[in-house]
Amino acid sequence: MAGMDTINTVTGTCTPDELGRTLVHEHLMVGYPGWTMDALANRFDRSEARKRAVDMLEGLKAHDVKTFLDPCPMDLGRDVEFMAECAQASGIRIICTTGAYFEAQGITYTFAALPVDDIAAIYEKEITEGIGETGIKAGLIKIATGEGRVSDYERKLLTAAARASKRCDVPLISHTQEGTCGPDQIEIITSEGVPPHRLLVGHSDGADDAAYHREIVGGGAYIGFDRLGIETILPDDVRIKNIASLVNDGHGRHVCLSHDSVCNWLGRPVLGPGVVIANPLEAIAEMMPDWGPTHLFERVIPKLRDAGVSDAAIRTMTDENPARWFAGTEAP
Ligand SMILES: [Zn+2]
Repeated sequence: MAGMDTINTVTGTCTPDELGRTLVHEHLMVGYPGWTMDALANRFDRSEARKRAVDMLEGLKAHDVKTFLDPCPMDLGRDVEFMAECAQASGIRIICTTGAYFEAQGITYTFAALPVDDIAAIYEKEITEGIGETGIKAGLIKIATGEGRVSDYERKLLTAAARASKRCDVPLISHTQEGTCGPDQIEIITSEGVPPHRLLVGHSDGADDAAYHREIVGGGAYIGFDRLGIETILPDDVRIKNIASLVNDGHGRHVCLSHDSVCNWLGRPVLGPGVVIANPLEAIAEMMPDWGPTHLFERVIPKLRDAGVSDAAIRTMTDENPARWFAGTEAP
């Protein structure tokens, strides 16, 4: 049973103390809704994809990474058996989520119609009994909001997630769009009685806005600088400046680091009307050569040191914060 001492992973359970160095937001596989309808996409080769994922996970061992959190929502091509196969083959621990994506990019028809407590019960079932027939249990709940305002649909799913989080004692991890609505997410989950330190407000590095970051840490939540290497949103130098500023102001115990990297794409990623990427692995590698799950260790940490962030503070972000967030027993 999941709970504060026991974390569900895709290959069994562990304790918060066992997590070790953790990447809090990376993806083995992503498919945007409708990818199955795109007959023009390259054929998906599962064994090739698995080999790529296992090689990537093996590469994390050199940096002492023990745990890989893949918060793929239910409606973005989540495949927990693929995750389990990759965890088994590599020996890297993987944790998956229950929960659905934000309204504009999710599969909304059924959850828009269901009562909020049915959605909470679905999340709870995926945590306590498992996902589909796999027996693989979600370790935490994904929540997501769109840009600038929280829609009624998103508010309903956040409320359901908060209720399931309370019943199952599991944390919440979020998607935010363009670095907006983090404080709204905190407000919605705390109004359901979930402590703010159960939430990691993801993609907060999308805003170059010190006041926004302080609103999130001041609200008691963890803050994700989890899109390292995605320079098409913001240059990493901006992220590094903002991380150093949070650490120097005494907020390092709130900060979690990751890349939101995607190892395999299902279908052709559609990044907007008319923006379709036919060969995502090659095209994205060309666009953002640094974007991958070892970038933090190879290029970002040296720059954080140059910016005056101590090795102890770096360890707090990479090792201690994820464990404290999962344990849930104390605020940052
Ligand atoms: Zn993501």
